Amino acid sequence: MLRLPRFTFEAPATMDAAVRMLRERGAAEDEPAAVGTPRLRVMVVAGGTDLFPNMKRRQFQPETLISLHRAADRAIANGSGLRIGAGATLTQVAGHDVVRERYPALAEAAALVSTPQLRNVGTIGGNVALDTRCNWYDQSLFWRGAEGFCMKTDPSVVCRVAPSSPRCLAVASADTVPALIALGARVRVANADGERELALADLYREDGIRYMAIARDEIVTAVLLPEADGWRSTYLKLRDRGSFDFPIVGLAAAVRFEGTAVADARVAITAVGSRPVLVEAAGAALIGTSLEDDAIAAAADAAHRAARPMDNTSGTLAQRKRTVPVFATRALRALRPH
Ligand SMILES: Cc1cc2nc3c(=O)[nH]c(=O)nc-3n(C[C@H](O)[C@H](O)[C@H](O)COP(=O)(O)OP(=O)(O)OC[C@H]3O[C@@H](n4cnc5c(N)ncnc54)[C@H](O)[C@@H]3O)c2cc1C
Repeated sequence: MLRLPRFTFEAPATMDAAVRMLRERGAAEDEPAAVGTPRLRVMVVAGGTDLFPNMKRRQFQPETLISLHRAADRAIANGSGLRIGAGATLTQVAGHDVVRERYPALAEAAALVSTPQLRNVGTIGGNVALDTRCNWYDQSLFWRGAEGFCMKTDPSVVCRVAPSSPRCLAVASADTVPALIALGARVRVANADGERELALADLYREDGIRYMAIARDEIVTAVLLPEADGWRSTYLKLRDRGSFDFPIVGLAAAVRFEGTAVADARVAITAVGSRPVLVEAAGAALIGTSLEDDAIAAAADAAHRAARPMDNTSGTLAQRKRTVPVFATRALRALRPH
């Protein structure tokens, strides 16, 4: 049985206290990579559905864990658009009436994460901040020690997937993220100096180690969705087992019609690179069309070109790359008005 390492547990009552504590305990100066088991000074934990298994495998060994359980907002508030507190569970998101009716891609993606038990505890904030994954990395310390560590936990070692790669190729694997990007989501991010807002698509970097573009002493506090008037959306996921599994391809599409023509469109993909990608050329290929077959083919081709899977998850590289245009075609056909 794998056991958790020792750590100090803090559970501040407010987000202000949480971000202050994160700064005071030295999060900003922490560097994630160190030999075998990164011994970070401090990390935040929400539902713990991903972080605790990772800690058991010694992918992380923080001295202090700051729980967001008391501090994070769990409300889903409908105003001009939708505000989802980072502490809202995936079950809450998947079952919320407004999400199901107006933001179906998000409801579908949240419902496809893992298992009911993990969705009852796992949060939207934790999903948005989910660690990248890789066959060489998501292994026990014993396995990694025996096979040899990789760049993600030991900066002096090469990437085991592509030894000549200058960067870590671990894969973005959060289901809700492409759906949120296709829906035009923004995120609120807090640190000890205050709060700011950015497009969700800008939250990520093409780097399996430092995969988020925010500082290590910042916390995602909420996801904001714009008004959904006229938008239709959907999410498709390829995974090994239908019962539960991380995506090995995820694709979300959203289109807004004015009359019979598409006025706005977004296609986003995940699990085929270190960051989720908004495929701008795919959206552009659809504008002004009525989602005719040739317009869909052009968008599918753009999504295919944007997908850069590596051989570091289950499925084959060719299968995952080929799935992207197939999913784009299926998703966009499903969004045609009947
Ligand atoms: C067997 C199994 C199957 C899974 N299948 C899927 C799947 O199919 N699809 C999928 O997307 N995920 C899957 N997961 C991963 C996980 O359950 C979900 O991604 C979940 O949403 C994570 O949320 P959490 O609140 O539990 O995050 P945690 O585990 O608490 O945290 C995850 C990461 O996010 C950081 N974090 C948490 N909250 C915040 C915040 N507010 N701001 C900044 N950083 C934060 C933590 O420090 C940690 O690095 C699976 C996990 C397991 C164990």
